[in-house]
Amino acid sequence: MPKLRVILCDQLSLSISSLKDLSESDVVLLCETKDEFTYIKHHKKKIAFQLSCMRHFKKELDTLTCKIVYVRLDDPHNSQCLITEIKKAYDIHNAEEIIVTWPCDYRLLDKFQNLSTHYPVLILEDKRFLMSKEEFEKWSYEKKELRMEFMYRLLRKKYNILMENNEPVGGQWNYDQENRKSPPSNLNVPQPFQLEPDSISLEVIALIDREFADHFGDLMPFYFAVTREQALAVFENFIQHRLPSFGLYQDAMIEGEAWMFHSHISFYINNGLLDPLECIKRVESAYYIDYIPLNAAEGFIRQVIGWREYVRGIYWLKMPEYKNRNFLNASRSLPQFFWDTQTKMNCLKQCITETKQNAYAHHIQRLMVIGNFCLITGMSPDEVNEWFMIVYADAYEWVELPNVTGMILHADGGYLGSKPYAASGAYIQKMSNYCDKCHYKVKLKTGEQACPFNYLYWNFILMHETKFSKNPRMKMIYSVADKMTQDRKSEIALDAEKFLNSI
Ligand SMILES: Cc1cc2nc3c(=O)[nH]c(=O)nc-3n(C[C@H](O)[C@H](O)[C@H](O)COP(=O)(O)OP(=O)(O)OC[C@H]3O[C@@H](n4cnc5c(N)ncnc54)[C@H](O)[C@@H]3O)c2cc1C
Ligand code: SF4
Repeated sequence: MPKLRVILCDQLSLSISSLKDLSESDVVLLCETKDEFTYIKHHKKKIAFQLSCMRHFKKELDTLTCKIVYVRLDDPHNSQCLITEIKKAYDIHNAEEIIVTWPCDYRLLDKFQNLSTHYPVLILEDKRFLMSKEEFEKWSYEKKELRMEFMYRLLRKKYNILMENNEPVGGQWNYDQENRKSPPSNLNVPQPFQLEPDSISLEVIALIDREFADHFGDLMPFYFAVTREQALAVFENFIQHRLPSFGLYQDAMIEGEAWMFHSHISFYINNGLLDPLECIKRVESAYYIDYIPLNAAEGFIRQVIGWREYVRGIYWLKMPEYKNRNFLNASRSLPQFFWDTQTKMNCLKQCITETKQNAYAHHIQRLMVIGNFCLITGMSPDEVNEWFMIVYADAYEWVELPNVTGMILHADGGYLGSKPYAASGAYIQKMSNYCDKCHYKVKLKTGEQACPFNYLYWNFILMHETKFSKNPRMKMIYSVADKMTQDRKSEIALDAEKFLNSI
């Protein structure tokens, strides 16, 4: 009897574990179902990207010698429910077992676990990650606090990345003190490598335009890579043109430059077109062979084997209760400008507009502009999580949730990061040129014209004094707060209240 091997939309790799030991009599199933695109209303470009990648991947599957079943979104027999389509294929092909690789979120895992009460389901480990869930659990066991840096060092050693004689190359694990520079005014940012949509992508774009017209985001222009070959070309372009300055300008933001010196590969390593280990090895070889600076190579590698693995470990260790965390009791609703971009705050306007156009914003835009704003204004974790899941083409819950709940909102109480990433307008001014054209004045701390990040930041600090004043990493901030007069504190609270009532 055949085995039914299910490939999910973020598992587009011929080396995915669910295809291991494939036999000619097996059936491989890939489905486009509306339930997966509408349980939250994903950005139109995100859906177009996923569907186009799936349809292109079908061509790769066709090179296998077994039967391939591909259910298209516009197939009149499509039930538009993933689990129903799986059951249907199991029955039609009289399958012996359903095999699937570990899914991208708890929601789907739960569905497969429910399915397994009536059908034989085998859920295999996702071997694309460098640390298994079990290894992470073992590593985290009995640690009072988890720190990414130590897990990162462990993986550098395990995979022998940038190591010499069991020591880190250059004598240090981390070169961040050479990184994260402010952008000079004459900085020349290379154009991103973008592709023209082919006939498959154009067909998908027309379909999304019809079927998901009320979803957020711009469909066109569409320029993502949609095959492994194209994704490799995007990555190679990064190595040649942007990696040398990646570290230096990792935190820099420039108006009109959405892509900066980042790699733009999260879409592809998250959906299977690229393998994280191959990307790391390529960057390591760029350091040795192409003389890419060590601060750039190490900085990039740390993002992938450090942060990426770390957030995934935390997600599976702490779900499902992690999703309900709300340490700061934040409950405010997202303002309308998160959808229509109409705000006088130039930094937010730029970052949200680029998000709408590209289904992409780079890390510092997500963390220190949009995320920082959500944190210091007390936005509800549920609403912020949903927004981040909707708007980014690389968003899957295993990576989105810890970044939002843990990294930006501190809603997990400090499990992922030791202190909240809260900052005033001074940080945004230092790392960008957004303030130059803003309605508000970044140098003003209070009053009508003052930058809202300034008083919102202090309002946040003062409001959560009991929670944070004992945090050793926040001692300095609270010693400044202690010196503020009561009048000053009242002025801050009043400005914050006025602003929050206005959004
Ligand atoms: C609030 C918030 C939400 C985020 N949501 C997502 C998400 O849904 N999906 C996603 O892939 N990343 C997410 N990130 C992490 C990071 O912002 C993106 O991975 C990155 O911006 C993708 O662009 P890039 O490929 O150009 O990355 P680069 O800056 O070139 O970095 C290289 C790679 O490192 C990895 N990486 C870097 N930082 C992180 C991180 N904090 N967590 C996980 N991987 C990381 C990514 O795979 C990325 O492709 C989020 C970060 C924040 C602060
Ligand atoms: S002045 Fe404030 S609101 Fe305006 S761009 Fe600068 S940081 Fe953003």
